[in-house]
Formats: sequence, structure tokens, C-alpha cells
Amino acid sequence: MYDFILKGGTIVDGTGHKAYAADLAIGDGKIVAIGPDLNSRPAKVLDVTGLAVAPGFIDIHSHSDTSFLIDERCESKLYQGVTSEVAGQCGASMFPCLEERLAQLIAADASEERAYISTSYAEFRTRIAQAERRMSTNLLSLVGHGTLRAGVLGYDNRPATAAELVTMVSLLERDLLAGAWGLSLGLGYTPGVSADVAELIALGKVVAKYNGHIPAHMRDQGDNTPQSLDEMYAINRQSGARVHIAHFKAGGKDNFGRAPEFVRHVTRAQQSGVAVTVDVYPYTAASSGITNSFPKWSIQGGLEQTLLRLQTKERATIYAFLSQAFSTREDGESLYIVSTNDRFPQADGKDIWQLSQELALSMAETILTVTERTQARAVCISHSMNQADVDFFLAQADYAVGSDGRALPFDPAANKGKPHPRNFGTFPRFLRQAREQGFATLETAIRRISELPAAIVGLTDRGVIKQGLVADLTVFCPQIISDRATYRDPFQRPVGIEHVFVAGRPALLHGQQTELRLGAFLLRR
Ligand SMILES: [Zn+2]
Repeated sequence: MYDFILKGGTIVDGTGHKAYAADLAIGDGKIVAIGPDLNSRPAKVLDVTGLAVAPGFIDIHSHSDTSFLIDERCESKLYQGVTSEVAGQCGASMFPCLEERLAQLIAADASEERAYISTSYAEFRTRIAQAERRMSTNLLSLVGHGTLRAGVLGYDNRPATAAELVTMVSLLERDLLAGAWGLSLGLGYTPGVSADVAELIALGKVVAKYNGHIPAHMRDQGDNTPQSLDEMYAINRQSGARVHIAHFKAGGKDNFGRAPEFVRHVTRAQQSGVAVTVDVYPYTAASSGITNSFPKWSIQGGLEQTLLRLQTKERATIYAFLSQAFSTREDGESLYIVSTNDRFPQADGKDIWQLSQELALSMAETILTVTERTQARAVCISHSMNQADVDFFLAQADYAVGSDGRALPFDPAANKGKPHPRNFGTFPRFLRQAREQGFATLETAIRRISELPAAIVGLTDRGVIKQGLVADLTVFCPQIISDRATYRDPFQRPVGIEHVFVAGRPALLHGQQTELRLGAFLLRR
């Protein structure tokens, strides 16, 4: 007995194998039959002639940790065909911590959802369940190393003591046993920036024990990318945990053109036996906090420490660094302020050049002013990559694609400023570019957003269209699927996505989201 039959479509099964014409039947949340001329009553039949039937897209690099708490529709992801998201990235998650550190973690978080920060993954999920909060995409949670570290020893800029490391290991192990998928690193941010490789290897051994993975926002994503990659390989070699390079890039104008060199670096490591994988996003701009422009030493110890440094003689050193980084009008125009969270409205939506003209300050002083006025909490978009490099990364057949974005509503009034278009368009954009530029066949492109991310993460019951697997499905028109979100107007629905099923039930039908909220926390077993 079938619940749904998708009739007349082309199955792009996620493995990279050639697409084929077949009907697909869904029953009891699973894919129960694939073949010609499936018929059964009382199944609902959807005519999907001319459309591709693919596994629901898996966003391997998501920051949707708390999106559903703000809006359970998770619109910007669901409308892209995303059914599962790997969250807790770049070292930051909603847990874990020691009981006595909880208040400090909450105080360091400026978001409204900070009340949900929890001492453990299990507690976090229990609180979500008790509050009867729903979600529209599945979430796979990672333990953020930065959160774990701050949750044990605070934001101190120093190595963890042996006793603290033992505590970190035990909290990590507890949360991996509770279903977390690995440990994310955010080594370019505080407090991850204060960790040495020995600490990461010790934690990596726990991750390896449970066959999790370690996705990393690396220590450096520009000049010192090779050294940062070496650090990741060392973690793999000495801990046994699989490592993953998140949002791989050649950042900063001095590094434009280095993508081939960086790709070769990874390929050589893979050939020498290092278990390392990669994801990229199809945009030339990054998005991060204002202090991402600062020298790394100046962000050690936490945002409060950074702000204190601006009141000492170190301000001059930071100023000199920023003056060099922002020496031309073009430099200033490449950094754009999305939102100051109501702390400095005059800066919202402006680039640093424009704002410096209005304030009659140098660009470096403008950045320092924004930092101080917002308590270092301004969100920025930085045009820090070149197109040829991004294209080169995107053309790698074994690189997964992740958004580095979060689920947001389409209503501009429900958003803060103009967020990065990657939140709204990553997956349709990738499929459009693969079609237009020809760097990947449809089958390969789909594999990079379904089976490949599932394999990297260790998710075994989704990511492929196969009898018996969970029926997370995205049905789209391969000829027209496209993003429409731009930097100027990000709040645009993609086109070409017809139906999305989550666990066998329709989350999106005929291009419109249904009333069902079918997402859940998926647990590592
Ligand atoms: Zn990151």
C-alpha cells in the first residue's frame, strides 16, 4: 500500500549514476518501490512528468541551529529543496557547558534564542520538545568546539589544563553518545583561536571512537591556508577522526588565483591517506562578524577582551593593521554591514567606504567605530574572493556544497538588514551554474548535495533514492531550476522546485509550502 506515487519522473538517485525514467512510490515514510507503471489505490498520484526526482538536498554546512525557534517554517532552506541541515558549525553550538558556565555562555550570546543554550545536547532537545517547538527541515547537530571550550574554561586565551581537557573530553563524549555527529572547529574565531593542536587531537580521538567527523572553519583562510590545512591533516593522522574543510576559499585579494594550489594541497593529502573532505559555497562573498577583519591576536580572549583592547595602546596596532587592509576605496566597498542589531542604525546596509565618507573618518577608524558602537556585534558581508577561484573549487567533482547560511523567512520585515543571498539561493544556484557552465552533470551535481554529504557526515538512511530508505525527496525541473536571491534583494524564492517530501510527507507541493512541519533532530546511532 502506497501513500504517494510520483509518476513519470526521472530518477536522479544521488549516487552519480545515470538518471533513469521510473515511478517512485512512498509508503509509511519510506521509498517502497521504484519502477515502471506503479499503480495502487488509494495512493495519491502526483504527475511529475519532465521533472527530476532527487534525494532531498543535504546542507552540509548550515547555521540553522536556532532558525526554527524564530520561524518554524524554515522557509529559505525548504524552498531550496533542502530537507536536512548539518548545524553547530564553525565551533559554535547551543551546548554543551558546565552548569557553572551556563550564565557566561548566555551573556556572550546576543541572540534572542540564547535562553535555549543548554548544558547538554540531550537537555537542549528536551527543552525544545517541552516547549513544543516544531521545525520544517531535519537538523543534524555537531558539538561546537568553541562552545565546548568556553563551557569548560570560559573565554581565556590560554591552553586548557590537563583537568580541563579531561572535562572537555567527557562532555564531548556524552553528547556524541546522545546523538551528535562530530565536533566542529572555529579556529579563526574566539575562543577556538586559543586552542592548540594537541587539544584538538585529544578531542579528535573521542570523535574517532564514535566514527564522527570534524568539520573545520580553519585557523586561516587566506595567506596561511597551507599551514591551516596541515594542521587539519595532523588532527586526522594523530586522532584517526575524519576531518572536513568547511567553506574552502582563497580569501583576501593577496590570495586571488591560489585555488588550484589549495586544491592540489588537499588532493596530495588524500593520496597520502589523509581522510579529508571539502565543502564550498557558490558565492564570492563571505559573511561574518565585524571583528573578522581584525588581526587574529586581537580577537583572542573573547569579544569583551577585543573591546577592552580598543581602550589601550593596542588600539593603534589594530588601527595600523586595518589601515593597511583598507587602503583603497575598493577595499572599503568590499565590506558591507548587513545589520548592527539596532545598535548603530546609521551603519546598516552601508559599505565601509560609504560610511567613512558620512562619518568623515578614515576607513580603519570607521571599522573601529562600528565595532565599539555595536559591542563588536555587527554582521557583515565581505567580498573577499574572486570568481575564478570560486569556479575552480566548484568544479571539483568530489567537493560537497554547503550554504554556510541559515533558514530565514522571505518577509524582509522579519529579517535584520539584507542577509547574504546564500541563505536563500545556494542549492538552486549551484544546479543552475552546473547546467550553464557545464562543470558537472546533473547526476554529479546532485550527488554533491545528497549522497556525498550524507557519506561525509555518516548519515546512512537518507541521501540516496533506494528502496527502504527514508523518503526525503526533492522534485524539480532541471532545465529551469535557478536562484533569484541577490545581494541587493536576497528575499527571492528560487524557481523550478515543485515538491519536497520529508519522511514521506509533503512539505512543499506545487511550489508552495504546506502546513506540515516535518523536520526533526536526526541522531547519530
Ligand atoms: Zn565558518
